[in-house]
Amino acid sequence: MTDKNGDGVVAGIDLGSTRIKVVIYNGSSYIARMTDAAWDPEETALALLTETSQDAGLFAPPHVIATTGYGRRCLANATLTFTEIATHAKGAFYLMPGCRFVVDIGGQDAKGILLSADGRVEDFVMNDKCAAGTGRFLSAMGQALGVPVDHLSAYADGAKPHRINAMCTVFAESEVISLIHQGIPRNAIIAGLHASVARRTASMVASLRPEPPIAFTGGVSQNADIVQKLSKELENPVIVPHDAVYAGAIGAALLAWEHPRETE
Ligand code: ADP
Repeated sequence: MTDKNGDGVVAGIDLGSTRIKVVIYNGSSYIARMTDAAWDPEETALALLTETSQDAGLFAPPHVIATTGYGRRCLANATLTFTEIATHAKGAFYLMPGCRFVVDIGGQDAKGILLSADGRVEDFVMNDKCAAGTGRFLSAMGQALGVPVDHLSAYADGAKPHRINAMCTVFAESEVISLIHQGIPRNAIIAGLHASVARRTASMVASLRPEPPIAFTGGVSQNADIVQKLSKELENPVIVPHDAVYAGAIGAALLAWEHPRETE
């Protein structure tokens, strides 16, 4: 990072429902950090911003701070705010140039974004009304099964999915507990949950007719079994770019960088 005083760099902060991500960008490269969202998102975001700025070798955080995500209005000293659709589209296209469709599944919502050849948003769909098919759904099911969310994919281990009928997180949890009691193997239940997330996501985005290259971003993209099942549902390979979990924060930083600056 070239400028040590916070000029010539911008920050993008994605205040997500489960995690906060900070990106500092200098026009050619970025540095990214993440932490769990605590009960005070503003304090947590500011602490992470300070830490990331120090890691970037800056004496002070950037003056331009762009926020996005569920808690984007929580940060009083943000200078810019962008919608999640705008930032995830921007970030995904930067991480995977040429992608024409973005699937993002985070802690509390799922979205599909159709992009033009030059990365502009042409259309989108979003489920932010209910936890079904989101990271929160998987975390709750993992808890019921005694498996941490980041181990679910390994546990599924290519098992034949056991059909999960309930869509709602609360009912699905009861169904999972009942399946455990019936002696259904844990890997088949987990594979069934992954299949249900993939099916639900594919049906949510179907009206946009996703065409490859398809980028998959957000925390749930780190689940390899869901990536594979979603590729099958969409009948096209779904690609998880490097730093896919930072797409929103990267997009916010890029949009801030391009935003007209006030001249002194
Ligand atoms: P948000 O921005 O809403 O906080 P994220 O995009 O950070 O959401 O995604 C958080 C979700 O990602 C968690 O709810 C969890 O289910 C899932 N997740 C996080 N890490 C992993 C991982 N290593 N493997 C699989 N799923 C993960």
